[in-house]
Amino acid sequence: MAEDYYSLLGVARNATDAEIKAAYRKLAMKHHPDRNPGDKASEAKFRTINDAYQALSDPKKRKLYDQYGEAGVNQGAGGFGGQGGPGFEGFGQGVDVNEVFGDLFENLFGGQGGQRGGGGRRQARGNDLKYETTISLEDAFKGVQLPLHFQRVESCGTCHGTGGKPGSGVKRCTQCRGAGRVQVSQGFFAMSQTCPRCGGEGQIVEDPCKDCKGQGRTRKDAELKVKIPPGIYHGATLRISGEGEGGPRGAQPGDLYLEIHIKPDPRFERKEDDLSVGATVDIATAALGGQTTVPTIDGEPVTVKIAHGTQHGATLRVREKGMPKLHGRGRGDLLVHVRVDVPRDLTSKQKELLEAFQKTLHEEHKSDGVFGRLFGKD
Ligand SMILES: [Zn+2]
Ligand SMILES: [Zn+2]
Repeated sequence: MAEDYYSLLGVARNATDAEIKAAYRKLAMKHHPDRNPGDKASEAKFRTINDAYQALSDPKKRKLYDQYGEAGVNQGAGGFGGQGGPGFEGFGQGVDVNEVFGDLFENLFGGQGGQRGGGGRRQARGNDLKYETTISLEDAFKGVQLPLHFQRVESCGTCHGTGGKPGSGVKRCTQCRGAGRVQVSQGFFAMSQTCPRCGGEGQIVEDPCKDCKGQGRTRKDAELKVKIPPGIYHGATLRISGEGEGGPRGAQPGDLYLEIHIKPDPRFERKEDDLSVGATVDIATAALGGQTTVPTIDGEPVTVKIAHGTQHGATLRVREKGMPKLHGRGRGDLLVHVRVDVPRDLTSKQKELLEAFQKTLHEEHKSDGVFGRLFGKD
């Protein structure tokens, strides 16, 4: 009397599909013939686990099993494995072995697993392309229309992506009978692989197109004008829909991603939408007040008022003279960093004046002690 499928997998009768799958995965890994070479007991166990999983993972079969036991599900199935095809196909669409194992197969079958994983799914669209470009800060400020020259794989114009000589047809692949996949037996496993003959397309061309050698796609020079919006950030990526590589057999093309780099500017430093600029002010202007002129990113220099007593390192803010806001309206600010320039060389006249000035400082300091307190001066 065969063991109950549920107890074989070590799950409750009301186990969920996920629980059944997890339990099977665990046991199948443990008892897989590749991991237990020559171990007949493991081999037998492996078969029964597979039988159990085949039955319980399919809702219809599980219902039958619950009602009638093993006899209910095993009619015509023929057992898992066998010599290649029949075993696997007997189970029909019930179990996607690849789906259950995923990465596990990569380990078990090495390179073959990789091939199966990579080429198994049909490619629905062309590959995305990625380019980088460097623009100046001025271009980032104004926005720019950028001509882009590059090479990409495009759908072949001669055969319109079919890969066949104009007028020649395509026929169903004889090896996979149009399915794009073939069953391959691996020891006790039968699994499905991308058809090596048609590369998973399910069809092959009768008479290959000369221009693309039957590939349906060719490498071509492409030219594109890309609009970079004002206010773009360094490191931003623009997606240009449909400008990537052409899809196989005339399928949808991929997208083009353009990463923007902004060259450092010698005058301005950018922080988000604000720009910083340095301004050198002489000591007299810093002390007495006055004005200075600074460059702006739009090219029109702007005059900034320097208040009396402005300190070295002070920051003045000029509103709306920074970068345009990429999202939304208006502009960032221009931050003017004040550097007070202390003269290195003085004429004798300047020296005299400064010395006189210096004396007044000392007099005031002296008076601070007595009069400062009396008159509330600081
Ligand atoms: Zn062609
Ligand atoms: Zn094929």
